Amino acid sequence: MTITADHRSGIRTVDLKVPQRESDERGSTSSVRSTVEDVIADIRHRGDAAVREYSEKFDNYSANSYLLSSEQLDEIVARVPRQVIEDITFVQEQVRVMAQKQLESLTDFEIETLPGVFLGQKNVPIRAAGAYIPGGKYPLLASAHMTIITAKVAGVERVAACTPLIRGEVPDATIAAMRLAGADEIYLLGGIQAVAALAVGTETIRPVNMLAGPGNAFVAEAKRQLFGEVGIDLFAGPTEVLIVADEHADPFIVAVDLLSQAEHGPDSPAVLITTSEELGRAVIEHMDTILVDMPTRDFAEAAWRDWGEVRVVEDLDQAYALADEYASEHVQILTRNPREALEKMHDYGALFLGEGTCVSYGDKVIGTNHVLPTRGAARYTGGLWVGKYLRTVTYQEVTNPESSAFFGELCGRAARVEYFEGHARSGDVRAAKYRGEALSW
Ligand code: NAD
Repeated sequence: MTITADHRSGIRTVDLKVPQRESDERGSTSSVRSTVEDVIADIRHRGDAAVREYSEKFDNYSANSYLLSSEQLDEIVARVPRQVIEDITFVQEQVRVMAQKQLESLTDFEIETLPGVFLGQKNVPIRAAGAYIPGGKYPLLASAHMTIITAKVAGVERVAACTPLIRGEVPDATIAAMRLAGADEIYLLGGIQAVAALAVGTETIRPVNMLAGPGNAFVAEAKRQLFGEVGIDLFAGPTEVLIVADEHADPFIVAVDLLSQAEHGPDSPAVLITTSEELGRAVIEHMDTILVDMPTRDFAEAAWRDWGEVRVVEDLDQAYALADEYASEHVQILTRNPREALEKMHDYGALFLGEGTCVSYGDKVIGTNHVLPTRGAARYTGGLWVGKYLRTVTYQEVTNPESSAFFGELCGRAARVEYFEGHARSGDVRAAKYRGEALSW
């Protein structure tokens, strides 16, 4: 047990479990950065030949074409058990309903600010999006629902989706989810080579305008490096969970929920902030019992050892303030009045209110999008939603000559303050023309 004043918030905490990691660096280490740089440069230069080499090198998989034909897709979907298909269909409907509601919340508008002066705004879908569906450690078929359905609801014409082989096997259920979600092209390709091929294009893969989807440190870093050349949804790297709990929480459920996210990988932080020291101690005790029988123990145990934290604070206001400092991807509230967090917390990817729900529901089945910001990105962005696949564009029209003449004069004066003589003349000529004066330069 240590007593700390949190270096960001200054809040004094009693720390029952501190992280054992050697460095705070997660994901984008310099070696990840330079591998990604090299692979992108090579794919830009040598196209398909380079994609093939990297797929062979990192995934032990080489093919003439990574694009699955519709016959191959039919065969794969036919192998997936009926119950799995039914479940995928149900979950995709939940994701679709949420995305459609998001679309409805975005309204195009046009206003008349002066007589005959019309200013408008429209939300226009991106034309081609790349959807990355992770598959290195687990076949993350839920990411297909999140990325592809949301893009299709937004109106994206072409969705090119990629996922890697998992331990040398075709991930049938993931491919089925990609197809049912409506992907226009499905590639059996993963990692940096998939993201780079989609962004820069090759002889056989047409480039997209935007990349979406979660992934490991290599995928997240590749998206970061390609941003600018293409759009990206957000920085969605290794999963994080933070639970705020008071004395009303069930310590066993808290422990299960922390480990359920730690199993994503050894670099997944799992943090408990609680007002009850007794609860914190009980949660730590449950960890060993649960880990013994956990099939994914290797990842979960390493993540808990290196990134797990249990911090005790004096009251819930301190807990919310400290949780905001983490700006965690997932924040679960297990308190007597969980809804108050909606008002009191600011920085998180998604909130899970009360014991009736959990991060796993959000990850897999309930319908909110699971592609969420990590590593503090929640301070400046929310998760993936319909709006990420839309561009908000504006337009204007002036149909009243007097109004145009008024703006022409104003523009002439405003532009000359900035020494923009050319801009000023565009205003001058209109002011002159619409007032019946001769035009001259
Ligand atoms: P992945 O598909 O992201 O990565 C697998 C690929 O990484 C492989 O195909 C391979 O090409 C590449 N790769 C692996 N080792 C490499 C190396 N040494 N050099 C170059 N390339 C290499 O699958 P994953 O690894 O299982 O990771 C999925 C990640 O997605 C997890 O960290 C999980 O937490 C995260 N995730 C995040 C969110 C979110 O919204 N933030 C949601 C779901 C999952």
